[in-house]
Amino acid sequence: MVRPALRSRSRKRIAKRVPSGESRVFYVSRSAYVARCSVCGRPLGGVPRDLSVIRYGAKTLKRPERPYGGVLCSRCLAVAYKISIRGL
Ligand SMILES: [Zn+2]
Repeated sequence: MVRPALRSRSRKRIAKRVPSGESRVFYVSRSAYVARCSVCGRPLGGVPRDLSVIRYGAKTLKRPERPYGGVLCSRCLAVAYKISIRGL
């Protein structure tokens, strides 16, 4: 049984083969990720990468306060507005 701190699922488990030939489990802390637009995949502006802000920050700090903020980038939102207004 591993240390109690490592029994948490907050750390990712990676199986690696070490030089001696045996396979071991490494416990890696999860890293910050870049939020991306769900349509075009560009990185979103106004969305923090800092995990402490993502976990404990106010909701207003986590994404832009506009429709589809934190989901669509500004370019894709402009296109979506045009499509919905013009009724295409
Ligand atoms: Zn986009």
